[in-house]
Amino acid sequence: MIDRTYTMDTLTDLSAAVETARLLIRSALEAHPGKVALSCSFGGPSGMVLLDLALREEPRLPVFFIDTGLLFGESYDLIARVEARYGIAVEVARPKQSVAEQAATHGDALWRRDPDACCALRKVDPLRAYLHDYDVWMTAIRRDQTAARGALAASAWDEANQVVKLAPLAGWSEERVWAYIKAHDVPVNPLHADGYTSLGCVPCTRRVRSDEDARAGRWPEFAKTECGIHV
Ligand code: SF4
Repeated sequence: MIDRTYTMDTLTDLSAAVETARLLIRSALEAHPGKVALSCSFGGPSGMVLLDLALREEPRLPVFFIDTGLLFGESYDLIARVEARYGIAVEVARPKQSVAEQAATHGDALWRRDPDACCALRKVDPLRAYLHDYDVWMTAIRRDQTAARGALAASAWDEANQVVKLAPLAGWSEERVWAYIKAHDVPVNPLHADGYTSLGCVPCTRRVRSDEDARAGRWPEFAKTECGIHV
């Protein structure tokens, strides 16, 4: 588990990293006025840090989440807290079908039989549709989260969604993320304190043990580690 006590070195390092992230965010906002959107799952600490950082740069920045209809109640509650604290209305990217409609078309609990197909319908397609109106997609993914994310660029063309994908926290560590959260009293999902280090949909998320990676609790019954929106 992460050590959440911080030395002076950690905090000095944090302020340099914050400045770098701010520069990236500011550059995108200036180069693409009105065409930058920030996605947040409300299920991980990095997303909350980026949301706080980005809204300090542009309080009217569009913030959206992909509502699969299967998220934890605590994630929806966090959205309400964020809206009150930052004075924003979080936008929603929705799948074409409700969970019940998907069950009628593809059978019950598709996530148990074919989670890639389920994620394509409930996450990948809605994201692509939402980003159609934007030039830049800002996301809080980091290189240290999974091996597949190890080569992540802070800014790169995203062919699948036809946007620039900006990852201002690409080089941040989990420790740095929590140092920022503590320093700025950023709201986070309360389930992180209950063993859930990364939250997605309820049927595909479990608690992680202290010796596991932060994302080990996602799709625990499968080799799958990504929903398909990032890699
Ligand atoms: S995380 Fe699970 S339930 Fe959610 S969209 Fe993917 S497969 Fe479906």
